[in-house]
This record gives sequence, structure tokens and C-alpha cells, in this order.
Amino acid sequence: MTTSSTKRVRLSQPAKDVLWSESGGHCQNPGCRVDLHAFVDQAHVAELAHIIPASTNGPRATEGADLTETERADPTNILVLCPTCHTMIDKGPSQYPAEILRRWKERSQQARAIAFGVPVFASRAEARAAIEPLLGANRAVFQLYGPLDDVFDDTRADQWSRHVVDTVIPNNRTLLRFLQSNRGFLTASEKETVDIFAIHVQQLEERHLEGTWTPGSTRFPEEIESIMKGDT
Ligand SMILES: [Zn+2]
Repeated sequence: MTTSSTKRVRLSQPAKDVLWSESGGHCQNPGCRVDLHAFVDQAHVAELAHIIPASTNGPRATEGADLTETERADPTNILVLCPTCHTMIDKGPSQYPAEILRRWKERSQQARAIAFGVPVFASRAEARAAIEPLLGANRAVFQLYGPLDDVFDDTRADQWSRHVVDTVIPNNRTLLRFLQSNRGFLTASEKETVDIFAIHVQQLEERHLEGTWTPGSTRFPEEIESIMKGDT
């Protein structure tokens, strides 16, 4: 449904709670991440910024012209920002299109999950079940876009870089935390594999996030694919 109304739908308290917890109390701009708790007693410090605006004539309005009022007020359409970043994105909507803001939100959700979502499992089987989807997602990216010997394809390379940043690196971090927090379930040779994987993860991040890379990087250890499979 297309709406031309400028009436704002008020966010419910549960929706605000979801947003505050999702942000971890930090500005969701990954280049800022200022701690909003420090200002919690000042009114409106944790600003709720619409990705697609509440009204049909705000910043980025054309990117979501067919969204209903309710969809605009949904937590999935809202970022928690500090006042500086809120002003910055709304003054420069061409620099900060909806796609970028959605990625900020995703990265913030991933960061929270990595920081706090590390269970200690009751068994190897439980741990394996938790890491399998992460391994599967990374495998899919590698199969679709991973570098191939003797094939130079810019489109494939671009897709690879993007998916490494958006999927593989966050999944690797979670995998490592799961594996390291549940090290007691690993066999001696699995522990060695995890240590090699940790080096590979660090080097992949250096290459794709920091642009630093030297030849001779450690390749992904294939044994990770079957880690924690079966009883010891
Ligand atoms: Zn900020």
C-alpha cells in the first residue's frame, strides 16, 4: 500500500527495547560505535533513525516509497545512532543510502551475537549442530565465488570480497568463539586444526578488512569441515 501520510506511528516500548538491545547501547554506525550509555540521562541521545523515513518526503524516501506507515515504524527499519551520526545520514542521503544503513544494522546485530552469543554446549553433538550452519554458509560462498586457479573474473572477485566481509568473516569469528569456548570437546588434533584456523581467520581479516596481505598466508584447513563430527 502506498501512503502519502506524514503521520508518525509511535514505536512501542517492546520495539524500543529490541532496538536498544540490538545496538548493545552503542551507535550502530560501525565507524562510530560511541557508547550511548554515557549519555543515557540526556533526553533523546540514543536517536532512533529511520532507514526509510516515517514520512514520504524525508531522506531516502524514494528508496521505499511503497512502505506502509506500520512497516516504516517496524524495528527492522530503524537504526540506533548517536545524534552526530543521525544528523550526518539525514543530511547526506546520497552518501548513506538505505542499503548501507541496512548493512550497518546487520553488522551491529552480528557484533552483538559475537560478543554475547557464545554458549557452552552440553555435548560435541550440540556444538556440531551449532557450527554446522556457519560452516555451510561459508562453504556456499566459497563454492559460488571463491578464487579459482587460473580463472580471473572481476565480477566473481568482487562478489567474493563482498561476501567475505559480510558473511565469511563474521561467521569465522563466531565459529572461532564457539570452538574456543568449547575446547574441552576437541581432540588433540582438532585443537591443532582450530589453532591453524585461527591464523587463517586473522590473515583473511587482514587482507579483506585492512588491505594488508603478504604471500604465504595459511589456507583454510579442510579438517574444520568435519570438526566435532562424531564421538571422540
Ligand atoms: Zn555515531
